[in-house]
Amino acid sequence: MTLAHTAEAPGEDAPTLLVKIFGKDRPGLTAGLLRTLAGFAVDVVDLEQVVTRGRITLCALVTAPGQGQGQAAGTEGELRATVHSWAESVGLQAEIISGMGDNPARGVGRSHVTVLGNPLTAEVTAAIAARITAAGGNIDRINRLAKYPVTAVEFDVSGVPTEQLRTELATEAAARSVDVAVVASGLQRRAPRLVVMDVDSTLIRDEVIELFAAHAGCEEQVAAVTAAAMRGELDFEESLHARVALLAGLDESVVDKVRAEVTLTPGARTLIRTLKRLGCQVGVVSGGFTQVTDGLQEHLGLDFAAANTLEIVEGKLTGRVTGPIVDRPAKARLLRAFAARAGVPLSRTVAIGDGANDLDMLNAAGLGVAFNAKPLVREAAHTAVTVPFLDTVLYLLGITREEVEAADAQG
Ligand SMILES: [Mg+2]
Repeated sequence: MTLAHTAEAPGEDAPTLLVKIFGKDRPGLTAGLLRTLAGFAVDVVDLEQVVTRGRITLCALVTAPGQGQGQAAGTEGELRATVHSWAESVGLQAEIISGMGDNPARGVGRSHVTVLGNPLTAEVTAAIAARITAAGGNIDRINRLAKYPVTAVEFDVSGVPTEQLRTELATEAAARSVDVAVVASGLQRRAPRLVVMDVDSTLIRDEVIELFAAHAGCEEQVAAVTAAAMRGELDFEESLHARVALLAGLDESVVDKVRAEVTLTPGARTLIRTLKRLGCQVGVVSGGFTQVTDGLQEHLGLDFAAANTLEIVEGKLTGRVTGPIVDRPAKARLLRAFAARAGVPLSRTVAIGDGANDLDMLNAAGLGVAFNAKPLVREAAHTAVTVPFLDTVLYLLGITREEVEAADAQG
């Protein structure tokens, strides 16, 4: 049986030719190779091309001469001679390998493994690749997502369940001080519909209560309580009340000063702008204060925001908060509430945070990202980023730096 004049993919027993060319890239090479092959009535089964530092590697898998559609046909020997002669004429090397069929179908258990390094060393990359193989995974494809401000490469892996691969690589990442994110493959990954972020030490570099404390002259006492709470050693609500009590008597004019002092985390604007362009809704949930998050919501065009509210009476902070407390369980509840209001299933949500009080939210989301988080949080989250750039979260979603910059140029 032959495949002549059918549109079907070749079976495992159908002869195919792998035509690979390598050399200095220039315009027209892909067209040139395929035009050369067209003279032999072959069909394209697979076509892959990468350009690395100006060198092209172009692989075309085609049906054997005369087996595809089209009138002209020659022998395999003639095809080989013609391709080599064409390659030589454009200064390329060519290799042609006879074989059967196509790639075997990719194994089940498909994941994207994003590795972020600054720099990304060969040693670390070798260790990650070796661990993927040891776990029974196969690396099907490798692609660079970013070269700035970090080097980010993505491995498409099959043959090992995502959870298992995540556990194996988390161990390797911790030992090597590199960021490795393992995300299940699928359509949902590239199109999150809702991203919810923590604020203090995530969206912004500051802990807002510490900024208030500096104005009240109790910075050290507050910082000590904050650190203990974030390590999970203190009940969040108790620690919140204890810290806010230290602010009693502060003039409300301090609110504006604190708002002006807040510094966005590098990459925050890029992350939010890009997510909005993707049609994604963005929100914040904060154990901090609406007096700051309201301004951030307006300034950054956020769809949702929730935080605690400092009580102000007769122009002075009372040392109390009003309304329901945004603590660890509340953050997860708010994520669910935002998702319901946005009409988005939780599987299409991403949560980002750094503290112990973010953990329920991170685990409730489709993808939870521990961002420059305390060890406890890093170990419990789906994935962790330790480089100090918030827009690296985009790489975990498979969005490349180049795509982000192109969108910015258009915008
Ligand atoms: Mg935080």
